[in-house]
Amino acid sequence: MARLPDHIFIVDDDLCYGCGACIALCPVDALTLEGLLAIVDEPKCTHCEHCIPSCPVFALEIVPEVSA
Ligand code: SF4
Ligand code: SF4
Repeated sequence: MARLPDHIFIVDDDLCYGCGACIALCPVDALTLEGLLAIVDEPKCTHCEHCIPSCPVFALEIVPEVSA
């Protein structure tokens, strides 16, 4: 699965409460739990979207990358 060009996968750290559901689902181990927050190793993420529906609080998203 190709990454979406000019998009990044994000974890909304205001919403995530560290349940870990997304982490178990990532086929490339791009997600890790640090305390009560899921952290993504973004370059590793394939934008496959497998994890996105698993989040009970909708904290996971693939969004257009905004250049500063
Ligand atoms: S979108 Fe796919 S590769 Fe990226 S963190 Fe979620 S499950 Fe892993
Ligand atoms: S599924 Fe959602 S709330 Fe649970 S660890 Fe992942 S991002 Fe956080």
